[in-house]
Amino acid sequence: MIYNDILDGLKFYEAGKPIELVVREYGIKADDVIKLASNENPLGCSPLVKEAIAKNAHLASIYPDDSYYELKGALADKFGVKRENFIIGVGSDQVIDVCVKAVANENRAVLQSGISFAMYEIYTLQAGAKLIKTPTPTHNLAEFKELYEKQKDNIGVIFLCLPNNPLGECLDFSEVYEFLGCVSEDTLVVLDGAYQEYASFKDSAKSIPVKSVIEKFNNVIYLGTFSKAYGLAGLRVGYGIASSELIKGISRIRPVLNVGSISAKAAVAALADEKFLRESLSLNFSQMLEYETLAKELGLEIIPSYTNFITLKIKDSSKLALNLLRKGIIVRDLASYGMDALRISIGTASQNSRVIEAIKGEIG
Ligand SMILES: *Cc1c(COP(=O)(O)O)cnc(C)c1O
Repeated sequence: MIYNDILDGLKFYEAGKPIELVVREYGIKADDVIKLASNENPLGCSPLVKEAIAKNAHLASIYPDDSYYELKGALADKFGVKRENFIIGVGSDQVIDVCVKAVANENRAVLQSGISFAMYEIYTLQAGAKLIKTPTPTHNLAEFKELYEKQKDNIGVIFLCLPNNPLGECLDFSEVYEFLGCVSEDTLVVLDGAYQEYASFKDSAKSIPVKSVIEKFNNVIYLGTFSKAYGLAGLRVGYGIASSELIKGISRIRPVLNVGSISAKAAVAALADEKFLRESLSLNFSQMLEYETLAKELGLEIIPSYTNFITLKIKDSSKLALNLLRKGIIVRDLASYGMDALRISIGTASQNSRVIEAIKGEIG
């Protein structure tokens, strides 16, 4: 087979290790494996979602409504915008892909912070475009500005991950707003809000006023997902919100019928359960304190987190990650990002205390 040259230079996403793998390789019972590597909701999902899935099981054999009328309606109510302001994706991951492929190419690069969500780079390379990273790993808007000013015409897409995965930091919205004013209408700015529910809960200065942003800036898209705070990672539902003009433009390459009928119903049900959402957010930050205390005790540096994970800087993080894996604990080693650190998703109280004991046992 003769493959496209682009394929030779691709990178691949290393997805969190599945529980089954740890069961197979280390002989640990599935119930004893703790998976805190993919930032899933440790509480699962709302009971309303489970009800909706059961009630709509017959839709398994029916194609979805490609306009996603009901889901866009529910989201439009939540954000105070219109259905025409939405694109629905198989996770917001697919919307990232669509944004990159709609705008980036060999002459129009993608700009991101030094360390950010790995999929930005993967889709950029798939599009045959160049990826530019700021020198600082976390978001430094002065560096974004400087790099952008130098080569405005050659930058097609800018990603701001708010808050940033895998480091956890988050810019204040006031800074972001000022930056948006410096960007040309021809450059697409993606505000990735995968963890916005967490950030807004912790600090309202981090909250993105989506409606007013997309009304003011025709070149800005906000991305949201049901995979994190809403606990629907297995159902793969995400969305983008932008001016109707931008949505029309990028939607030309959205795969048809992309999100399944049952997933769409489940997402609508998830939006209706604000109590579950609040409980998830509040458990997250009360449990995060346990890791902050651990870091203090062991003298480890942490990055203050506005997400559902905590990044601990630890020497020889790969070795520690492997030793934890042998004890049935799956976390994310950031060595492949060029940083000696572990990213640990915040679990339930009992999961976290087991992880903390295990880390103390390894390096305490
Ligand atoms: C998890 C995540 C997403 C998207 O997840 P989906 O499951 O595809 O919706 C997007 N951006 C960031 C930064 C993430 O961490």
